[in-house]
Amino acid sequence: MSLITPNYEQSLYSLACGISNFLGVKRDCSSMNISGNRIVLALLDGFGWSTMRKAGIEVKEARKIHTVFPSTTATVISTLFTAMTPGEHGILGFNTYSMRLGGIVNAMRYTYPAVKERDSIKDSLSFSTAFPSLQSYLKEVNDVKTASVIPKGLEDVEFTGVTHGYVSETKTYIDFWDAFFNLEQTLQKDFKFIYFYIPDIDSLSHKYGPYSEVTLKATRDIFENLYNIAKKHTEFTFLITADHGHMTTTETILLDQIPELINKLEIPPYGDSRAVFLRTRNDIHDYLYTKFDSIRVFKKNEIPSLLGKVNDEKILPDYIMVPTDGRAYIYLFKEKDEYYKLVGHHGGLTPDEFEIPLITVNG
Ligand SMILES: [Zn+2]
Repeated sequence: MSLITPNYEQSLYSLACGISNFLGVKRDCSSMNISGNRIVLALLDGFGWSTMRKAGIEVKEARKIHTVFPSTTATVISTLFTAMTPGEHGILGFNTYSMRLGGIVNAMRYTYPAVKERDSIKDSLSFSTAFPSLQSYLKEVNDVKTASVIPKGLEDVEFTGVTHGYVSETKTYIDFWDAFFNLEQTLQKDFKFIYFYIPDIDSLSHKYGPYSEVTLKATRDIFENLYNIAKKHTEFTFLITADHGHMTTTETILLDQIPELINKLEIPPYGDSRAVFLRTRNDIHDYLYTKFDSIRVFKKNEIPSLLGKVNDEKILPDYIMVPTDGRAYIYLFKEKDEYYKLVGHHGGLTPDEFEIPLITVNG
């Protein structure tokens, strides 16, 4: 399967620059043009272009754009609310590297990968001290009211705080019906920008696969509800998009069980199951190609083009290994982790993962 070369000019990054611009915050980036007076940014987690197509959704307002690399929620949400490339904000994958924190951390949970509790690092060191480059443009918005509508439980986590906790009002919902009820109520008020987030397509894609009946049914239900609301509220431009798509898992390879590889590395592999970040002082380029089938290995000098603009070279790994087939590469930090059982994965560069819709309603 051929891999995508990220086009940051037509991606969630340029969309983020457009939104930042729309809200009156200047960022040094080339932005997508956004028309209208008020906007709703609806992020349907895991709603890839091919999931949309397989669900039978065909709307004239849809166009195909790219996400950013690695194609995973932590990286994408960071880009979406900072208008910075992954290479600038430095949240690179589900598990990312932080010199300040002494190694590998899970940014969304703000904890070490072997630790179960969320935000376990928070009391010792704030997220903004650990990742100082991540600066949300929402923090700089003046004289304009903004809101978010997100699942209950996400409102008080550290990662939400630093990315979109700066909105004027955060509303939470308890289930599918409440999500749309809450959104409609929020649309009645005087907000200029509303962020609406739904996680379900992603969780179903992980559990049952992106093209399973239940995932496609959920995709249709969620999209129809949202699209109908958008059509009713012409005073808003609706930007319906996704953070990434999904790849159906054909095989799971447990990297922690390959000592031959682990012994060549300075720290465990990190990043994502489909974007394996490797730090080593050894030249392992040829080794990786002989050890694993259907992969593409990116050397350090090729990595900036994947991550967009890079400010600090220290955030770069020495190699990134990306599968060209459906294999997922997992390093289990926890003994009882069930992560390896997932039948859908993302993070990589296949079209299924990297191509996402941008559906502009009333724009
Ligand atoms: Zn996911």
